[in-house]
Amino acid sequence: MTPPIIRSLTDLRDQVTTWKRAGETVGVVPTMGALHQGHLSLVRAAEQDCDRVIVTIFVNPKQFNSPEDYEAYPRTEEDDARKLSSFRVDAVYVPDGPQMYPDGFATNISVAGITDGLCGAHRPGHFDGVATVVTKLFTQTMADSAYFGEKDYQQLQVVTRLAKDLDLPIEVVGCPTIREEDGLAMSSRNLLLSDRARIWAPELNRAMQDMAEGLLKGEDFNTLKAQATARIAAANFTEVEYLELRAADTLELMTQADRPARLLAAAWLAGVRLIDNIAVG
Ligand code: AMP
Repeated sequence: MTPPIIRSLTDLRDQVTTWKRAGETVGVVPTMGALHQGHLSLVRAAEQDCDRVIVTIFVNPKQFNSPEDYEAYPRTEEDDARKLSSFRVDAVYVPDGPQMYPDGFATNISVAGITDGLCGAHRPGHFDGVATVVTKLFTQTMADSAYFGEKDYQQLQVVTRLAKDLDLPIEVVGCPTIREEDGLAMSSRNLLLSDRARIWAPELNRAMQDMAEGLLKGEDFNTLKAQATARIAAANFTEVEYLELRAADTLELMTQADRPARLLAAAWLAGVRLIDNIAVG
């Protein structure tokens, strides 16, 4: 059976209040829909930890950098509900724009520092949009824990930081990236790739894996980066926005894998922006 869909905040609050009065714990999985196995792995983690699970679906206009990108984002609500039917999901919360941002909405949540580089540098305002909507989803659902993918590694750090800084009574749980068999990180945006581009796409991850291996052997960062960039370009990517080694916890820039690090990249293929990241050491 497909889980019940809740569209209004009042109905959501009534439902969650009933659960909480019964002493039940609530987990939330925030998504923008077009659900794939990556999202479903978060649902599985929430199921294991919590008595009640809410999946939210909201394509958040505030975190897009262009109206075209926002319009093109896949919207597959019926399919999404069907995919969730094999899980113990108690509610799918699908607010509309005015529900989330009513007339006169004027508040912005901005997390400093950790948002400076990587996607933050290339997508102005993106993380403000993420931080604002996530804060609202946390307070709206009153969840005890929230599940996010390492696929969006910088986002996971931003959300962890904001929950801590604002004393939000919620535990942020990071879950590993789920990949296609050829290594491509699952993403709703993969639906926008042409058949040909889909064949080229895994080269980003392959180049990153080899670069990580080189870093662990102590090879020079800049040489490895140049090789990886050339390889990604040879797979028809038009631009590598960034390919950087960062500290796993603070996202501080690094050039040597001498402590736990993350290699993170964003690159454009056939008009689609793909991101990926892997642990190094
Ligand atoms: P999105 O719908 O793209 O906003 O993603 C919703 C949540 O799913 C975020 O926490 C993402 O990090 C997570 N997610 C997206 N893709 C994957 C993946 N391939 N593996 C694990 N989590 C993912």
